[in-house]
Amino acid sequence: MGVERAYNFSPGPATLPVEVLEEARDNMLSLAGSGVGICEISHRSKEFSAIIEQAEADLRKLLRMTDDYSVMFLQGGATLQFSAVPMNLLGQGQTADYIVTGGWSKKALAEAKKVGECHVAATTEAEKFKRIPRPDDIKLSKSPAYVHFTSNNTLYGTQWQDEPQTGGAPLVCDASSDILCRPLNVGRYGMIYAGAQKNLGPAGVTLVIIRNALLERSQDSLPIYLNYRKMVEGKSLYNTPPVFAVYIVGLVAKWLIRNGGLDQMYKRNRDKAALLYDALDASPFFRPHADKESRSLMNITWRLPSEELEAQFVEQAAAHNMRNLKGHRSIGGLRASIYNAFPREGVEALVSFMRDFAAKHG
Ligand SMILES: *Cc1c(COP(=O)(O)O)cnc(C)c1O
Repeated sequence: MGVERAYNFSPGPATLPVEVLEEARDNMLSLAGSGVGICEISHRSKEFSAIIEQAEADLRKLLRMTDDYSVMFLQGGATLQFSAVPMNLLGQGQTADYIVTGGWSKKALAEAKKVGECHVAATTEAEKFKRIPRPDDIKLSKSPAYVHFTSNNTLYGTQWQDEPQTGGAPLVCDASSDILCRPLNVGRYGMIYAGAQKNLGPAGVTLVIIRNALLERSQDSLPIYLNYRKMVEGKSLYNTPPVFAVYIVGLVAKWLIRNGGLDQMYKRNRDKAALLYDALDASPFFRPHADKESRSLMNITWRLPSEELEAQFVEQAAAHNMRNLKGHRSIGGLRASIYNAFPREGVEALVSFMRDFAAKHG
């Protein structure tokens, strides 16, 4: 009882709703009074069948997904999807288009190049990834097999406000760090994938949503685990799925529904992010990285006048119970990751600490 919880600004694995953690704790020793804990049940048991089916149903409900999409719970993180996407969707003689907006999209592109022909449709690397490409920056290839983009750039703190146009090609999205942060029109996508450990649950499961028509592209010669068609046919139970991680994702989905779904989450996220951006804009002491129109609701990045001050900031914030504010090594500075489960009070505490810090050192 009375466990001290820090405000955890970690980019991932990230903070989870306390109610979810408490429920999981209670079911660790005995799931729903069965006498067997959640990590000890068979993935073929009726208890787990109910869990995975309900998790899928709740995610479908939250995202208003239609029946022409399938849902998979896979392992290997978003990183394995960097390979699986081209292996399944990029046919011989075809080209895949990539929009490069940060470290993760670069990695996705690097893996796809090992599989087939790729075309960089746009990149903002020359501007240190401080913005999302504008529609007229995007130059698609003639008839791409798909167009891949990263909806939220976890390291740089930028986020797409609207999907890129693809001229009819299937749109494939790495949504690892912003899935379920706002309503999403799934119908505009061919595929969406997301490692769970940012906004969905613990590390160990990756959510993959795919339009059924695309499953025809999966060739039998693929390694079985990487074959989307086979994984869909097996309902993510071809082999042992990450039982515990799927269970937690299911609890998070229920928590989202109880809290008003994605419309309500979007409202909360805009409110939390505005608090922090307003504080950053209020003083020249803070130097936000992302251009205003590209700002992320999930990962907020900024610099201070010197690296010494940034190190002090991180250290003193930790002493005030605010953890993991150090920016990614590729851009330095500071980063506050404030996913769905991150409480508003934590952002208020950070803003108040920032004002004091700026007053002292500015
Ligand atoms: C964290 C992250 C990844 C990597 O996820 P893994 O599950 O560790 O492979 C990929 N893309 C984005 C946008 C991320 O934030």
